[in-house]
Amino acid sequence: MVKISPSVLTADFTKLGEAIKELDFAKTDMLHLDVMDGIFVPNISFGMPVVKSIREITDTILDVHLMIDRPHRYIEEFAKSGADIIGFHTEANSPIEETLDKIHSLGCKTCLTIKPKTPAEEVFPYLNKCDMVLVMSVEPGFGGQSFMEYAPQKIAELKAEIDKLGIICDIEVDGGINA
Ligand code: ZN
Repeated sequence: MVKISPSVLTADFTKLGEAIKELDFAKTDMLHLDVMDGIFVPNISFGMPVVKSIREITDTILDVHLMIDRPHRYIEEFAKSGADIIGFHTEANSPIEETLDKIHSLGCKTCLTIKPKTPAEEVFPYLNKCDMVLVMSVEPGFGGQSFMEYAPQKIAELKAEIDKLGIICDIEVDGGINA
């Protein structure tokens, strides 16, 4: 089943509340929140206070994508801010297994994330602790890029491994997605 998780990154932030109400009305499956720190990625977006404000106005699943360095430092704060799914990058200098366990211990779902140049095999050892895996189909950090054509191959490799293990794990694809 295909689920849609629209990102608020391109929204007019002075009208964020209205944009989120429109998405609620459209009944999207979840809301994708791209958190950038200016270190792991060159751009800076928003942090916990914005996640918390969004939580206050919607019941939809908040799918928080941390594009930040050493994300394990902030898991608890994002969980407290109202995140339902917390995603972080294998490339972000956090102890992966420990961070996945921490997310689960706070009652949230995990999403291990890989950049376009990182092979799918990087997440294989952790799949049994992942509720979702996110495959970036653009370089993380900026909205509005085109979908990279080699992403489907990586998605197929992941799907094959998930099926082989017989586990339930969603695959999320992020960046340059259109109809
Ligand atoms: Zn994202």
